[in-house]
Amino acid sequence: MSKIAVFPGSFDPITIGHVDVVQRALPLFDKIVVAVGVNSQKQSLFSLEQRIEWLQSVFATEPRIEVGFFHHLTAHYCQAIGAHYLLRGLRNASDFDYEKTISQLNHIVGGGLETLFFISQPGYSHISSTIVREIIKGGGDASPFLPAQIQISRLPE
Ligand code: ADP
Repeated sequence: MSKIAVFPGSFDPITIGHVDVVQRALPLFDKIVVAVGVNSQKQSLFSLEQRIEWLQSVFATEPRIEVGFFHHLTAHYCQAIGAHYLLRGLRNASDFDYEKTISQLNHIVGGGLETLFFISQPGYSHISSTIVREIIKGGGDASPFLPAQIQISRLPE
């Protein structure tokens, strides 16, 4: 049975902090599915298609990383694709407080689904998609926080 993990997120857009989590988790699994959770309550800056395209280009050279998306519950998506593990990153105490509850719920709803947490590297703990979006909205250069495959020079239409 292959060991599959899902790294769920909004990835609006993907940052080098996200990439670091995936790279560090890869030796532990046969396959990682980086999956965009589509949340109807949460307005994204970039379209689902754009976010998926960026993820595919960032992970194009690693055959053990797949890109997907899902509506509704993360735990049900994991069950549907045979994943028994979730990956999440922790940057600070507020990430921890939020993630702790979600992981406990996912363990119940997902029938034993385990969440693995990766503490962000010191050089990445200030990086978030929110900050990247603010820089882009303000007309600044977000490239220090983005994987090399992604160039965002202006806001989407
Ligand atoms: P969500 O909307 O589900 O929080 P994000 O795309 O913002 O999705 O983040 C996905 C995951 O990546 C979360 O677990 C988040 O804590 C983690 N993450 C985001 N930025 C970093 C970073 N710089 N270092 C480590 N983990 C991070």
